[in-house]
Parts: sequence; C-alpha cells; structure tokens
Amino acid sequence: MDFAYDDQNIFAKILRGEIPNATVFENDHALAFRDLYPQAPVHVLVIPKGPYMSLDHFARDASADEQVGFMQAVAEVCRLEGVEAGFRAVANTREDGVQEVPHYHLHILAGRNLGPMLTR
Ligand code: AMP
Repeated sequence: MDFAYDDQNIFAKILRGEIPNATVFENDHALAFRDLYPQAPVHVLVIPKGPYMSLDHFARDASADEQVGFMQAVAEVCRLEGVEAGFRAVANTREDGVQEVPHYHLHILAGRNLGPMLTR
C-alpha cells in the first residue's frame, strides 16, 4: 500500500499554525482540538503531528514513541472531557470510510447516547 501524504490538507495547515483551532490537549506527538461542526456535545479530533494519512498508515509507519504519545493524548482528552458515561472513537478511512481530511484523525464523540454504530 502506497500511503501518499498531501501536506496541503487542512489538518497539516492547523499543525503549521496557518489555520486556528480550538485546542483541547497537545503533547510532543499529537494535537487534540474541537471539531468545527460538532455532531455530539463532545466532539474532539485527535491527530498525530507526523505526516500520516490514515489509521492504517499511522499503525504501520509511526514510531513507538509517536504511537504511545498519540494514545496518551486520547487518554487525556477522555479525562479532560469527562466521558465516564461512554464515548465513541471513529477513524473514517479513505473512500469507503468517507474520510474528508487525508490526515489521520480519531473522532472522540460523547455527551449523549450515540445510537447504533451505523445507519443506512
Ligand atoms: P472525516 O470525514 O473523518 O475526514 O472528518 C473530518 C472532520 O473534520 C469533520 O468532522 C469536519 O467537521 C472537521 N473539520 C474540518 N475542518 C476543520 C477545522 N478547520 N477545524 C476543526 N474541524 C474541522
């Protein structure tokens, strides 16, 4: 699989500071910020700082430090947002996953009952 990364995507621009974001948490390897069009009371995107276009790209090529740093950011977002009642983590990927932004991001959705996983 050839994971071609386009550094003109909107999340790359956020990482370069070219576009503002509502940061929830940041560490050396990840940035978490509020989704511009929230679909739940809590809707945070966690992205790696490295150039990875998808979850499978990140899982294959990111270093152990990057992967640990990313998951620590997920843990911090869950703690900060108070998701004791539960949450959903979603990684839309490529065409069939209806991924709009080609920089890996994990949606963290919470704050209400999110219903069935998929609807047709
Ligand atoms: P996906 O379909 O998984 O690629 O979702 C991309 C998400 O990025 C959508 O939920 C958008 O609302 C969100 N989004 C797009 N532009 C921005 C932005 N500038 N700041 C925060 N969220 C954004």
